[in-house]
Amino acid sequence: MISDMKTTPIERKIEHLKQQLAELGPIHPGSLSEQYNVCGKPDCRCKDPKDPQKHGPYYHLSFTWRGKGRTRFVRSERLAEVRQKVANYKRFRTDRRMGGPGGGTGTAGTGAKTVGRWKSILTICRRK
Ligand SMILES: [Zn+2]
Repeated sequence: MISDMKTTPIERKIEHLKQQLAELGPIHPGSLSEQYNVCGKPDCRCKDPKDPQKHGPYYHLSFTWRGKGRTRFVRSERLAEVRQKVANYKRFRTDRRMGGPGGGTGTAGTGAKTVGRWKSILTICRRK
């Protein structure tokens, strides 16, 4: 009867958030962009005058963190994972109606706030 007394409201809240997070999976804000590069080697295939074959594709993840724009290089072996995280984040935003569908009006502040919140949740979950 008093066994539940051990669980504090904070602990219950963490449990609830952990559950939400588990359902959603890992998330990351931003958008992926594909890029092909030309290197510095003079006789490289990427500089072929007839049929240039640029290096790539390379993937970059652009996102807003605390109001600042950031870009992170994404290795090809991590592409699927990052793509999934970005999709999860988009779903999270839609679920919460943050910005709403077809938003994109540059409300970076709202996005950064959301990320901050989820980051703290993740930190709590890892500590446990
Ligand atoms: Zn090259």
